[in-house]
This record gives sequence, structure tokens and C-alpha cells, in this order.
Amino acid sequence: MSTETPLDLKKTVNLPKTNFSQKANLAQNEPARLEKWGKLDLYRLIQQTRQGRPKFILHDGPPYANADIHLGTAMNKVLKDFIVKSRSMMGFDAPYVPGYDCHGLPIEIHVERALEKKGKKKNELSVETFRRICREHAENALKSQTRDFKRLGILGEWDNPYLTMSNHYEAETVRMFARFIERGWVYKGARPVYWCIKDQTALAEAEVEYHQHTSPSVYVKFPLQSDPATIDPALAGRNVFVVIWTTTPWTLPANLGIAVHPDYEYSAFEHGDEVYIVASDLVEAVAAKCNVGETPPKVLARFPGAKLDRLEARHAWLDRRSLLMVGEHVTLGGEADAETELDVSESEKKADSKAGTGCVHTAPGHGHDDFVIGKRYGLEIYCPVDNGGRFTPEVEHFAGQRVFDANDGIVEFMRERGVLLFSEQYEHRYPHCWRCKNPVIFRATPQWFIAMDHAHRDLVEKDEDGRDRSNFTDNLPETPAASLRASALAEIERVKWIPGWGVDRMRNMLKGRPDWCVSRQRVWGVNIPVFYCASCPEAVADPAVIDHVADIFERESGDAWYTHEAKDLLPPGYTCKGCGAQEWTKETDILDVWFDSGTSSVAVLENREELRWPADVYIEGGDQFRGWFNSSLMIGIADHDRAPYNTVITHGWTLDAQGRAMHKSAGNAVEPDKVIKQSGAEIIRLWCASSNYFDDMRASDEILQRVTDGYRKLRNTARFALGNLDGFDPSRDSVAPEEMEEIDRWALAELNRVTAEVLAAYEAYEFHNVYRALYNFATVTLSARYFDIIKDRLYTFAPRNKARRSAQTALLQIADALARMLGPILVFTADEIWENLPNRIEPSIHLALLPAVAGGSDDALFAEWERLYAIRDNVLRALEEARVAKLIGSSLQAKVRLEASGSTLELLQRHQNDLRYLFIVSQVEIGNAGEDVSIKISTADGEKCERCWNYSTRVGESERYPTVCERCVAALNEIEQE
Ligand SMILES: [Zn+2]
Ligand SMILES: [Zn+2]
Ligand SMILES: [Zn+2]
Repeated sequence: MSTETPLDLKKTVNLPKTNFSQKANLAQNEPARLEKWGKLDLYRLIQQTRQGRPKFILHDGPPYANADIHLGTAMNKVLKDFIVKSRSMMGFDAPYVPGYDCHGLPIEIHVERALEKKGKKKNELSVETFRRICREHAENALKSQTRDFKRLGILGEWDNPYLTMSNHYEAETVRMFARFIERGWVYKGARPVYWCIKDQTALAEAEVEYHQHTSPSVYVKFPLQSDPATIDPALAGRNVFVVIWTTTPWTLPANLGIAVHPDYEYSAFEHGDEVYIVASDLVEAVAAKCNVGETPPKVLARFPGAKLDRLEARHAWLDRRSLLMVGEHVTLGGEADAETELDVSESEKKADSKAGTGCVHTAPGHGHDDFVIGKRYGLEIYCPVDNGGRFTPEVEHFAGQRVFDANDGIVEFMRERGVLLFSEQYEHRYPHCWRCKNPVIFRATPQWFIAMDHAHRDLVEKDEDGRDRSNFTDNLPETPAASLRASALAEIERVKWIPGWGVDRMRNMLKGRPDWCVSRQRVWGVNIPVFYCASCPEAVADPAVIDHVADIFERESGDAWYTHEAKDLLPPGYTCKGCGAQEWTKETDILDVWFDSGTSSVAVLENREELRWPADVYIEGGDQFRGWFNSSLMIGIADHDRAPYNTVITHGWTLDAQGRAMHKSAGNAVEPDKVIKQSGAEIIRLWCASSNYFDDMRASDEILQRVTDGYRKLRNTARFALGNLDGFDPSRDSVAPEEMEEIDRWALAELNRVTAEVLAAYEAYEFHNVYRALYNFATVTLSARYFDIIKDRLYTFAPRNKARRSAQTALLQIADALARMLGPILVFTADEIWENLPNRIEPSIHLALLPAVAGGSDDALFAEWERLYAIRDNVLRALEEARVAKLIGSSLQAKVRLEASGSTLELLQRHQNDLRYLFIVSQVEIGNAGEDVSIKISTADGEKCERCWNYSTRVGESERYPTVCERCVAALNEIEQE
């Protein structure tokens, strides 16, 4: 016995102690940590640490450098950060080069509006000045986006992102155009494309959105000119009409034909002295709708559509032929799928089995299928509508009217002429401009195309000045090696799509898509690098010339197209192959911005030392099937005959709690900025991890509150472990596994199990499963079981007692592994946990690796402890009942008597010394009786120990420490000897 004065009991209890505070204060602490990372140059440090390891390349789909970020943009970038950080922590060299999409219509429109506010007009400025303002706007927007992305804890080359407007990128963009020309896939021609009459430009597939729209639905009769007896003798001498249906009456002035399906059966039925032809399946519906014919309709003849091939009708009111044609594209109904809605007439044909006649009004200048069949039958690609959507002067009766305004007039006109059988208002899904939200039209104009199937030399049209541009392909191989569509369809089968339906969606999109219209009548973009001879029809679209232009862009940016004359952009002394002249004009169209962004795989992956082509992963929203996934694939094939990605992941949309789209104006938008200021970026990150991003992701204040609660549970779990590691030196104090307490080994076995689960989830990009596994581990395994049970040991045993060190050894491994597994998701908090660990080597969690999974089977251990926990659950219930009955207050006031037999009794006897800790009671007795475990609760024997609050009959045995129990006396002796 020591002769010194007894210890102060309170000071001998090992209370948790850590700098890892309970309150996270994320809004304040995150910026401080970002600053620390900046000083450390953490991103660079990670790159250096992983140098020489296998590479993992996630290629960033560039967000548009226009507005501030919203929750969807934040989610997209956070998911990318999860991927990059988890692969880095798997040991890959995983660089992240963020990008920005800088050209295009939204910025032009923004700048135009800003100019208007200052009372200026776009055409008062030089193109160079206007482009400079657009460039400045993009620069400012991307700076502010960069600030927001960094604030979310996303690490990457923010000081050197890729910009589609950088000199090098613009040069690469025109070089890619040259690669398409080399393949023989580029042509200029008049084909119908989506056209916005407000913005006066062609639009890409990905630039239209489908919304409900009300149009006039009309049934119109076209008189048959050919002898009806050639169809069927029963029709000889009759007054026969072909009945068409359309929801775009304004396209009727451009009607040049009527398409029927060759294999469908058609019927001619009587209405007074007239006879109407429609598909047999639709006779009754048409007759009822238009109130024509007898009931039931009197059918005079039935025949396959093929019988009508190349017969002639007359236009409903114009003195012009309307040719009858057969085409497989004609359908009799079925709801349209937004993804395959390629043009107005397409959606019409599929819209509704009750609307329609099986005879399809065909205007080759106003529809994709119309164009294709029109070409096959040698029809003119006739489009009497100007850039502003007005009928040209040649359109009788309606010249100068805007097409949508003209609809009602055309309907009235047809009614007066007696050619209209029926009209009504019709609601359907209709393409709208993504930018100005106005309905778009399909309109044939001279545009540059990339052919999906072949070179389309036969499709090359004369331009507006009547000059033939076809000869630019003269020096190309006669037959292109392969079709772009076929190569693309083959490539997507090699790519891994997550979720798996991605490949079907991509396949459907590729199968149905028309040729890619790559020209835009705009100025903020990369110019189509083509020259026209001023003296003859020669057009120069020569890969060698384009590569020369690209070198100039490389030095001076794409502005060179405007600041230099044509001769200075061409190789010196370049003369026209057609006429020998040296005077040139420049193409004024720019490239589709999707061509720009599609170039990124080449411009970025191939040109940065730390990256490589192709990428391992692309991850974007479902809108990118028609957008970036598609354009990247096209350019990958043109340049490398290969898809530029090995895996493509699709994420859902961000919606509100009710599943509606978020809009600032609707007041249901969750603004990342606000959440960050209130709760911290971690809450947005954890929300991303907690939602299954393969589906749409819902967010609201309430949902974020639940996420915050989840965050708190994870934080408290880490805090308990860290607090009880105070004074633990792993190199001195660790306990070897075989010498650890069994429950500590059980906790580590559970940790091993959850680690395996988390690693598999990271591997599969299933971050919601990472979160779920870690959350359950923290709340169930640790908080509700393990931590409760080891508290007494941690707090009351002598600090260096081996049993206490055993628990600490387990806690250190748990805290260490938790920090690592949370590292990719809770980037700030995991780093903070890491900082407070006694064993860290790396200065930041982001330099560490994910924990390894130990081999061997713990099944016997799990089985043993699951049985004990089942008994524990029953005991805890009995204790709760005793508490309610006021028999006991705290559980330490209780004594538990368990009676059991057989293997259960053996189990209890094996763990005799664990049971009081397991139940958190002062005494446990075991008896041999009965089949099941019977539980009796009584008050504990003896006195309450002042130090550990357990009850014991041996309190008072020590003279030196008369108020404590025998366990505490032993602990105090140990402490005194330390
Ligand atoms: Zn528009
Ligand atoms: Zn010439
Ligand atoms: Zn005690």
C-alpha cells in the first residue's frame, strides 16, 4: 500500500477527451480546412503520391459556363468527386481535370440582352467585339462556378481547367472537323432541321425539349388524279379522295406527297357521291370523327397500300401534284416516345391510334421522314418558310404570315374551299427550343451535316446563291470505309453502361437519329473552316487546309477567322483548283456546340500528360444520351474508330420532395449556396451519397434535415472512438489480436465485414450503399451495442489495464477505417477525424488508402455473438419493464438471473464474465433450469460504488478507499503503481 494520500476518485475515471468537437460548425470550419488544403497544395500532393500507379481517368462533362450552379450541377460534380476520390484511395493515380463549355447560344442571348439594356444592338458591334464580350461573360461565369465547386470540397486542377474556348481547344475542334471530312462523312445540303424562328438558328437534337402544345388537328381530302380503276375496278369513274391528317396545317402549302404503308390494307368508302381512302383499321374512327359515310361505312374496295404507289393526287387547293408514295415509316398509331420523337411529323404519326388516317401528309422540307422518302421519290426539298418563320412570297394567300399565326387562317381557308373534313384543337407533345422555350419548326435550309450512313453525295444541294457545293468532296475516297451509325452501334456494345438500360437507350437513339446538323447561324463558337472561291463554285473543305487553319487558331484563337482575311488563313499562295483564282470568301456558320464538347476527349485526354485516352468513366444525366455521350462517341469514332469511354454512368434528376422539378420561381428549389451557408457542404455531399442517384434524387428542407441527423450520428460515432483514444499510443499500447477481449475481436470482425461491403459498393459506384452500410454500422453495431458495452471498461479500468487497451486497440482500428471509408464522401469531416487519430502518417485523409479487408472466416464468432445479442435484447426489455415498474432506476441498480439449459447454458457460462457488461447491470447469476432462457430482474445486492456506480456487496472492504467496490480498488491500486 502506498503511504501517499489517496487519489481523488473523480480524477481516476478516464473520461473521453478529444479536440474533435461534438458540434461540427461546418459552415465555419469547412472554409478553414479548404484554406489548409490550399496551403498544402493537396491536389498536387495527391498526384505526386500516386505517381506511377495505374491510372484511372474520369473525364469531366463540361458544365455550361453561363449561370450559377444549382443543386443538379452540384450533385453532378459531387458524384464525380466521389468517384475520383474513391479510386484515388483504392491506390489509382486518378487525376481530375474539370472543364467548361464556353461557346453557344445561351451566352450570345445573355450578352445581347445585356447590350439591349445599355441601349446597344448586336449588329452595331463588330463580330470581334461581340465575341470578346461573350468570352468575358463565360470567363466570369466559370470563375464563379469554380469558386462554388471548390467550396463543395471537390479537388481537381481548378487552376488549369479545360475550356472549349481556349486556343488549343478551338484548334482541336476544327481538326476534328477535318477528321470527319477525311472519312467522307461531311456534306452540305438542304435537309430539314429543328429551327427556332425566334433565335433564327438551327438546333441540335439535344437542344430541343418536349412540352405539351395545342395545335389544330385537321383531316383534309386530296383529290385523286390518277384513274381510280387502276386501284380497283369497283372505283371506276368515282370521285376519289385520299384523306390525310396533320397537326401542322402550316406545312400543307409545302405538301408534295402522301405516304402510305406498302403492306397495310387500305379501304375506299363511300360518302354521298365521293369516295375516301384511309387505312382499313381506321375507317370507322375517321368516318365517325369526320361525320362522313354511312353507319357502318360502306366500303367499296380493300387493297394493300402498295397499289397506290406512284399514283397522283392533286394538292388540296394548289394547282400542284401530290405524289402517292409507299414507306415503312407510316404507322397507324401508338403513343410516341420522347426519345425517338425526331420531328413534328414523326410524333404525329405515332400520336394516337384514333387520330390519323394511315395516309401521311408529306412535306420534304419540313420533316425528317418526309425528307428521306421525298429524296427517294425525287421530290424537291421544298421549304417556302424564311429564317423568321414567315411564308415566302411564293406562298399564295399566306405570304408573309408567321407559320404558327397562319394555322387558323389555313384551317378557315380549307373549310371555305370544302376540302376540310374535320378540325379540332389537339394537345400533344411538341418540340420546343431549349433556350427561348418557343415551339420550334422543322425547316430545310442549307446546312453542314455529318452523315450517319454514307457520304450523301447525292444529297449535296445547291446553296442559296445557286452554286453547287458538291465538288468539295472531290478528293475523297469513293466509298467511305464504314458508316458512322454502324460503327457507333458496334462500339456501344463494348461499353459498360450503368445502369444497364443505358445501352438500349443509346441504341434506340443511334438507330433513329437523322444526320447530324453541325452548322449554326451564330457567331459565338468555332467557325466551320471552309472557304468558297469568289470566281467559281469551288468550295475548299480540305483536311490539309483545315489543319493549317488550326495552327493559326492554336496561336491566336478562333477569333483569327474574323480578324484575318481568307487569303491569310489559307496556306500561302493557295489557288482555286477549279479556276486558278486566289480570291476567297469564308464560311460564316459556326459549329454546333455539341461538336465542341464532343471534341473534349481528344482535346483534353490526349493533350495532357497526366491523362490518357480513352477515359475509364463518363458520368452525366440522362439528357446526355442525345448530347455529350453521343457527340463524344461520334468524335471518338472519327478520330480513333473507338468510343472514348469504357464505362458510362447515368445519374437521375434532382427533384423536390413531391417529385416535381425544382424552379426558383416555384419556391421549391433547394439552393446549394444556402445549404452550404446554413449547414455546410458536407450536408449536400452526404445527401448525394444517401440518395440512390440511379433514380431521380429528391431534396427538400425536411429531407436535408434527415441527412443532417445522419451526419450527426456518424460524427458522434467517430467522436466516441476518438475521445477514448486519449493517451493511447498504438506502438506502445496495442494489444495483439489473439490477446484481445472476445467482444473487441467481434467488433473488429464486424468492421471487416462492413469494410468489404463498402469497398464493393465503391467499386460498383453505388455510393448510397456505402452510406447505408456505414450508417448501420455506426448506429446499430457500434452505438447500440459495442460502445454501450465497453464504456465501463474504458472509463473505470486503470488506463493501462490490458482489457482497456484491448478496447482502445479496437477503437483505433474502427476510427481509422471509418475515416478512410468516409474519406471520399465526407471530405471535410473524414479529414478532421484523421487529424485527431494517434496513428496517422499522411498529413490528410485524401492521401491515405481505403482500408484493406482481412482474410479468414469470422462466422463462428458472429454466430456466438448473435446468440448473446438475442439474449441481451430480451434482458434489456425485462430491465425496461422493471424500470417502468419502479423496481430499479438505472440498469446498474439491477441484478439479472438467467436460467437456461443445454447449449444456451454453456454459452452463458462461457461468457459469465462478459454478461454484466453486456447487460450493463451490477450482477448476473446463471442457473440451470428450463428449456428457454428465463430472465428475472431484482435489485442488485450491496452498496453503490462511488467511483463506478456499480453495486457490490464488497464496497467498504478497503480502508484506503472505503466508498468503492472491489473492481475499483484493484483499478486504483494499478493506477497508483503506474
Ligand atoms: Zn429559341
Ligand atoms: Zn475557283
Ligand atoms: Zn467501482
